[in-house]
Amino acid sequence: MIKFLDLQKINLQYQSEIESKIIDVFRSGWYLLGNEVKLFENNLANYIGATHAIGVANGLDALRLIFRAYIELGVMQVGDEVIVPSNTYIASILAISDNGLIPVLVEPDMETYNLDLDKIEGNITERTKAILLVHLYGAAVFSNDLVALADRYGLKIVEDNAQAIGAEWKGVKTGNLGDAAGFSFYPGKNLGALGDAGAVTCKDTNLASTIRAIANYGSNQKYVNMYQGLNSRLDEIEAAVLDIKLKYIDQENSVRRSIAKRYINEIKNGNLILPALPNNENSHVWHLFVIRSAQRDDLQKYLLDNDIQTLIHYPIPPHKQKAYEEWNDLSYPISEQMHNEVLSLPISPVMEGSEVEKVIDVVNNF
Ligand SMILES: *Cc1c(COP(=O)(O)O)cnc(C)c1O
Repeated sequence: MIKFLDLQKINLQYQSEIESKIIDVFRSGWYLLGNEVKLFENNLANYIGATHAIGVANGLDALRLIFRAYIELGVMQVGDEVIVPSNTYIASILAISDNGLIPVLVEPDMETYNLDLDKIEGNITERTKAILLVHLYGAAVFSNDLVALADRYGLKIVEDNAQAIGAEWKGVKTGNLGDAAGFSFYPGKNLGALGDAGAVTCKDTNLASTIRAIANYGSNQKYVNMYQGLNSRLDEIEAAVLDIKLKYIDQENSVRRSIAKRYINEIKNGNLILPALPNNENSHVWHLFVIRSAQRDDLQKYLLDNDIQTLIHYPIPPHKQKAYEEWNDLSYPISEQMHNEVLSLPISPVMEGSEVEKVIDVVNNF
């Protein structure tokens, strides 16, 4: 069986380094808000090029905390609107609505699967305060026109960088393109912890200290509470593991790139549509390799019959979810078509060449 993602194999690459570090943290007696988190935050900020990095409990919290901090700082108010792609993972949208802000869904571009930047302006109202960009599947989305648009309307650009750590746009890393960014280190992400973990990066010192306080009961000083905060901290053990794996992220992303290149060059089947190879290979870190087919469900079954696991990212669009019943009758035809046709092939830094070859052969025979 070719697994969709062999997490055990990914983490065992660093077995001795990770195990000895976990023992160190265990024996240190210090488990929260300590040196491991500080070190990882510094190394992450350096890697991204951001001024600040704040470790938090997970990726959803990272995004929630950014919007919550903007509300506490008076930059946004409950009822304000945030533009977000209609085909993103639900967490991007939850982070907005959880803060009493209103998600405004905008359709993606069918070629890139990312937000169609040309459709943003038509969705801006006097209540619009931010654009939440999602670098979906690992592909950076950004443009100079977008920056000009955000400046013109006074909008914050927030990045959901859960899927694209290491990707670049014109030499700048995702997570350092907009005003603030949320990262997820969910085990299956390109930089995965051994449980839940996340981070925020940003340039603004005031925003950073507000987020840090809100994530720690609204407190920057023990037992002094500035905000009605929450508890969303990164554990020392997770930070220590992430700090080890961060050293290898570029290497791992480059293996993903070479697999994506092979798939794109060697899969030849008229019944499906492959993702485009980006002009600049650094702009994509291939968190997912997503193909499209009108016979998606048959293809998935055929692959499984041939011992190849695949997944669908994602089967139900956010506006068709029960959680957002008020949107159920709205129509987002591009998103709907994507959700009916997408299929994610196995891709990971530990896939063997022979496994890649087998996926190519089986897909070609479908
Ligand atoms: C994984 C993911 C999140 C949420 O991250 P968690 O750490 O699971 O909370 C948010 N947005 C996107 C696009 C994701 O893929």
